[in-house]
Order: sequence, then structure tokens, then C-alpha cells
Amino acid sequence: MVRPAKPHRHPIRRVLQPVIQSERKALGASALLGTAAVAFELARPWPLALAVDYAIARRPLAGLGPQSLLLFAGAAVVLFTLIAESGELGSTLLAERAAERVGARLRQDVYDRATTLSLRWHDRMRSGELVSRLTTDVGRLLDALVAVTAQLLPDVVRLLLVLILLTVVSPGLALLALAVVPLLAVFAVRQRRRVRIAQQRARAEAGLLAASATDLFRNVRAVQAFSANARPAQVFHQRNAALLDVNVRAVTTEARWSPVANVVLAIGTGLVLVVGGREVLDGRLSTGDLLVVTAYLSALYSPVRGLSRLSGLLAKSNASAARIQDVLACTEEIAEDEDARPAPPLVSGLWFADVRFGYQLSRPVLDGFDLTVAAGQTCCVLGPSGAGKSTVLHLLLRLYDVDAGGIMLDGVDLRSIRKQSLRQAVAFVPQDPWLFDTTIAQNIALGAAGADRAQVLAAGRAALVDEFAHQLPGGYDSLVGEAAAQLSGGQRRRIALARAVVSKAPLMLLDEPTASLDPASAAAVITAIERCAAGRTVLMVTHDPLLAAIADQVVTLDPHRPAGVNLTTLPGAASTIGRR
Ligand code: ATP
Repeated sequence: MVRPAKPHRHPIRRVLQPVIQSERKALGASALLGTAAVAFELARPWPLALAVDYAIARRPLAGLGPQSLLLFAGAAVVLFTLIAESGELGSTLLAERAAERVGARLRQDVYDRATTLSLRWHDRMRSGELVSRLTTDVGRLLDALVAVTAQLLPDVVRLLLVLILLTVVSPGLALLALAVVPLLAVFAVRQRRRVRIAQQRARAEAGLLAASATDLFRNVRAVQAFSANARPAQVFHQRNAALLDVNVRAVTTEARWSPVANVVLAIGTGLVLVVGGREVLDGRLSTGDLLVVTAYLSALYSPVRGLSRLSGLLAKSNASAARIQDVLACTEEIAEDEDARPAPPLVSGLWFADVRFGYQLSRPVLDGFDLTVAAGQTCCVLGPSGAGKSTVLHLLLRLYDVDAGGIMLDGVDLRSIRKQSLRQAVAFVPQDPWLFDTTIAQNIALGAAGADRAQVLAAGRAALVDEFAHQLPGGYDSLVGEAAAQLSGGQRRRIALARAVVSKAPLMLLDEPTASLDPASAAAVITAIERCAAGRTVLMVTHDPLLAAIADQVVTLDPHRPAGVNLTTLPGAASTIGRR
């Protein structure tokens, strides 16, 4: 079922809302602590005014002489700074730690969602792109969360307090200082839009580079083996150059902002200095008050600068949040009925009834496909390459759903069976053995939840894993490497077969289990298959006539044969198979 994710107007809020519930207290405390620190930060210019206007001017205050006033002013500066910095440290730590926990939850959610999405979705989404969303995009979103928590409220409060204090000290100078703010606001709004667009392009390009790098690293053997053909290097080079281009544009767009803002703000400071200096000369303002006003000017401009930086950061994170939301909101999965039932015991058999399926709807691989396999029988599917043999097995596992018709186990449609129960009822040996980067034993144990060491070793023995496992230094505990790169094709296949052997599932699906084995090993594997096929229903795909010979029923999937035509290649076989 294809239901594309709806784009959302506020992706950051949409993505973060469900994962920050339990962090609300920590985030709130961080914002409050940061705001409290602002009060002490803003008190810092006053000891300076006290020193200039009273101590240095030798005017006693509250019975204290110049020396005492200087000592008092010095101590106050240190104390205010100590409290303000402690508050800021506490605020940052609370926000950063909460953001890390939110990030871990978000990564888990993206992983959980992505792994349940249909294989049609995964066929389109490249794994490198997905990893880039899981790591870089989540990281960017966390930057925004920390900034909004530890910066937004303190900056707004700082701005308001400074405005009030400036107005109290000198309303005229306050107005003058504010004159440049509208100009800055106009620049900020335009800048935000440009940064957002530049960042969207940069993130999309980074995703493409990650996808292409993952593909190239996964196939590094092909890259080296075909080094005469510079195509892979060209692909990477082009993607890298494209990313460089959009990144340079994005950083240029961002970098332009800071000097523009600083110059506009310097104009305000210059105006205040000229007009305020005149007032001091005319005796209408004290030197201390002018110092306080200029100190507050930078305190006024710092939140203005901070808020505009925050708006750039939000624009960046918006692009990342939208990419995460794409995955989280996607509903393209193999659906499960609410009243889905456990898999039946497979006592009567399985059948495909008038099945139509294509990876793309416009290009059916199977059309009008019928097949019946009685329980306890072994059925072998033959056919030319690309005819759809592996597809038949994938449909039985519900890795994909049929487009029309139905597949039944004991008369129950697969779509009415709980997915997990169905997959536990099937032991599958895929054509590409799908091994994880872990030990041989753990790879075999994947075949049956709760399989103990003795069962794993017995399955290994039956599938001829013993032959090579005992020659490795770690035996069954040897790591197989990424994509089992440290094993040969035949060895990988034997581990995949051992997985099916350890499973007690009533239905066994084997996709070319003897491919890449030497004749002696193939014969031994066939014996192992015969042994573990006893009492189970088996559907296998093979080009190996020796393996086909153990089947009770052999059918050929012929892409040129009209649907509904029976084809049996072994006497006594009772199957129906066809393909339009
Ligand atoms: P072989 O004997 O070579 O393994 P097969 O009979 O098992 O071939 P399938 O793997 O079932 O063939 O593929 C049937 C058709 O579906 C092929 O034309 C193939 O290109 C196409 N196909 C397979 N997997 C996908 C996929 N994930 N996305 C799109 N098309 C696919």
C-alpha cells in the first residue's frame, strides 16, 4: 500500500514533539537558569559606573570612601560574573544532555520506522541516504533544540531588560540605539529564507553523496577489480563536486550575514557615542551613565545577533527535520489486519491463486500465477533467469504484497496472518545469504529464536559449516565481517542453510541453496536438505538437476507461457503454474 508522507509546515515541531515529552522539565529548567543568569550579566556594568562616578570622582556614597567603594565594585564584578557564568553553564549542560537523550530516542524511532517500511520503499531509498538522515540530520535538529532552549528565552529577556534599563538611564539614547533594529530585522528575514533554501540543497546533496559512497564502499571489490573503468570514481567525483558547490554557496550565504549585522549595529553604537558624548560634555549625562549605556548597547545587540543566528540555525534544522519527518511519517508498509491471526500449522498445503505482482505496478513479474503445493511435499521451481522464481519466495514471506489474487496457507490468506508469526513459520535460505557482521554461531542462531548452542552447532554440522568453521581461529565464534566478506560464496550459503536447519518452521523456502558449491559439497548439502525437509513443506528454486531430483513436484516458470497452462517436468508431479 503506497501512502506518501504529507509534507508538514512545521517539521521541527512535528518531529520533536513526540520525543521531548519526558525532557520538558530539564529543558524548562535550562531555559529558566539561562534567564536567571541574564539578570546577573546585566548587573555587571553598574559596579563600573559606581567606580567611575563615585570612587574615582572621590564622592563618598553611603558613608564609604573611594578605597572601600573600589573594593566593593571589584568584588561585585567578580561575584556577578561568577553567578552569571555558573547559570549559563548549568543551562547549557541541562539542554545539551536532554538533547542527547532526545537524539537517541529519535534515532531509535527512525531506525524502527525504517526497518518496518516496505521493501518497495527500501528499493527506492538508498541506505547511505538513510544513514545520513539518521546521523547528520538528527544532529542538526539537536543543535536547534539546544539553541532554542538555552538561547531563545534568555535572549528575549535580555533584550527586554536592556531596553527597560536603557530607557531608565537615557530614553533619548535608547531610541537612537533602537533606530537600526528595523533595518536589521529586514536583513534577518531575507537572510533566513536564503539560508533555508541553501541548506535544503546542501542536505539533499549530502544525502546523495552518502548514498553513492555507501554503494561504492559496499562494492569496493568491484571498484578495485574494474579499476580500468573509472566510472565509479567519476560518480563519486561528480557527487563530491556537487556537494562542494552547494556547501560553498550555503556557507557564503551564511557568512555574509555576520559582517552586515555588525556594520549595522556599529552604526547604532557610533550614533550613541557621538550624541551621548555630547551630553556628557554638556553635563547632562555622567561619564558612568555613558559607560553603562555603551555596555548595554552590546548587551542589546548581542541578543539581536543571537536571535538572527538562531533563525539561521532554525532554517538549517528545518531542512533536516523535513528529511527525518519523511521517514517517520511514511506509512508505506506491509499492512497488518487488527484481527490478524497466528500462522496455521500447514497441514493441508499452500497455494497461489491467480496472483499478479510487479515491483513496479506497470511491469508485472507474475500475472495470473497459480501454484499448489501439498503439505509435506517438496516442490522445485525451475525457470530462466529473471522469470520471477525468487519473487515467488519473497511473496510467500510477505516481503512484498501481491497486487491481485491471493496466497493461502491451509486456506488462510497471508494478509490475515500476523507478519511475525508468518515469518516464524518459514525457514528461508535466500539467494544472497544476508549475513550480519557478527559471528558464525550468531548468524545461524538467527534462524530460530531461543536456539541453544548445541542446536546451533548441530545445524552447522548438518549444513557442512563444520568443514570451514573448525579451520578458523575462533571456530563458530569467528566474525564473518561486513557482508560476510571474510567467507567464500559457498561458505556463506552453508551458514544460510544452517539457519534454515536450526529453525523448526513447517515451511522451508530455499533459493538456489547449492549454487557456488563444488559437486561433493553440493551432494552433501542435498543430503542435508533431504534430511531436514522430512515432515516439512519445501518450496525451492534451483538450476541444479541433482537438487531438483529430490523434489516430489517440479514446475517451470516460463515467462513466455500463457497464464493457467500446467507444466510438469517430473512424472507424478501435480502442479499448476503459468505466467502471462
Ligand atoms: P534468477 O534465476 O536470475 O535468480 P529469478 O527468476 O529468481 O531470476 P527474480 O529475482 O524473481 O528472478 O526477478 C524477477 C524480475 O523482477 C526480474 O526481471 C528482475 O529484474 C525484477 N526484480 C527483482 N527484484 C526487483 C526489485 N527489488 N525491484 C525491481 N525489480 C526487481
